[in-house]
Amino acid sequence: MDSQEPVFTLDDALWERLLELTGGEAARCYQCGTCTATCPWGLVRDETVSVREFIRRVQLGLEATDALWLCTTCAQCEAYCPRGVSIAGIFRALRELAWERREAPEGLPSLLWSVFWNDNSWSQPPSQRAQWARDLAVPLFDPTQHELLFYVGGAASYDNRAQKVAVAFVKVLRAAGVAFGILGADEPPSGADVRDVGHAPFFEELAAKTAAVFQQRGVTRLVALSPHSYDVFKNHYPPVSADFAPQHYVQFLAELLATGRLKPQKPLEVTLAFHDPCYLARHNAEIAAPRQVLDALPGVTRVELAHSGLETLCCGGGGGRMYLETAAGERFSDVRVEEARAAGVQLLATACPYCIVCLEDSVKARKLPLVVKDVAEIVALTL
Ligand code: SF4
Ligand code: SF4
Repeated sequence: MDSQEPVFTLDDALWERLLELTGGEAARCYQCGTCTATCPWGLVRDETVSVREFIRRVQLGLEATDALWLCTTCAQCEAYCPRGVSIAGIFRALRELAWERREAPEGLPSLLWSVFWNDNSWSQPPSQRAQWARDLAVPLFDPTQHELLFYVGGAASYDNRAQKVAVAFVKVLRAAGVAFGILGADEPPSGADVRDVGHAPFFEELAAKTAAVFQQRGVTRLVALSPHSYDVFKNHYPPVSADFAPQHYVQFLAELLATGRLKPQKPLEVTLAFHDPCYLARHNAEIAAPRQVLDALPGVTRVELAHSGLETLCCGGGGGRMYLETAAGERFSDVRVEEARAAGVQLLATACPYCIVCLEDSVKARKLPLVVKDVAEIVALTL
């Protein structure tokens, strides 16, 4: 052996820590590489994301590379893994190791500080959280008067584009005669971004606090605008109460249509496709509800994209990527809007504030004759 070659020895302590964080999941990977071949980074980069490489680096006690933060936790790869490994979970655990070793990239510590100080990821004052609703006179949630809490979330509270979705959803709820309230400036963070970037201890702290707020406010039925909030409330929160029932808003709209409470009237005369958000389709197997809603609208012709349902193509905004720079030419959303154009649709529908922002940015950058709207906005147009 060349004496100049570095000699690596296995770092048992670090490997044991990864096994502990993943509940042994990391040991199930047998390094076949199937996941790497199916990752959407392969559509936009020569070098893709390899969970095998990161597992190996941990075994050798090496620092992670920046590629660790590329994973959008979209779970596309998990569908193909012959060992059924929770690959997104391994990436979150690898990120937790990186936080422990102070190796997080620039931009992410400030995200955590913003959630800590402001209760949102957007570095915005908590007092402005309900400004999106200033002209709507939406009441504060009162369990004696309201059938549900509308959980708006940070993106729709502060991002100009996503705010329009919240406004449209209020219009739809009112048209259906739903009694609802919001928590206004007191709305606590869901912690979904914190979980996605792998800071499990902070996420657990936030989840406990927010669950306690829901409990104190008497929240049982909750409808969330974002699939990311819905996912953590449903799958990763401590018990709020025996009858706590979080829903994503398209599930609630499907119910309103099925029971006849919501009656769309104005025909739209449009051909559209639905872009499934990863956290609705793959993480929660909800692909029927958005299609039921869109198919109930008069004048709508719906077609499927090449990647749809459980095979959806990530917009690129999950896993904390919304808060990190993605180079031009490396955006999944560019691939997605081109797919919509190839399908010949005029309108690309989705049901996630991150997807809306990513897809609309790509449509603008590429100057495509395509409109991106959220399902709530499309339903509002028919009222
Ligand atoms: S597909 Fe599964 S077993 Fe194969 S390398 Fe990826 S995680 Fe490991
Ligand atoms: S979760 Fe998505 S982005 Fe992450 S490695 Fe798997 S396919 Fe790639």
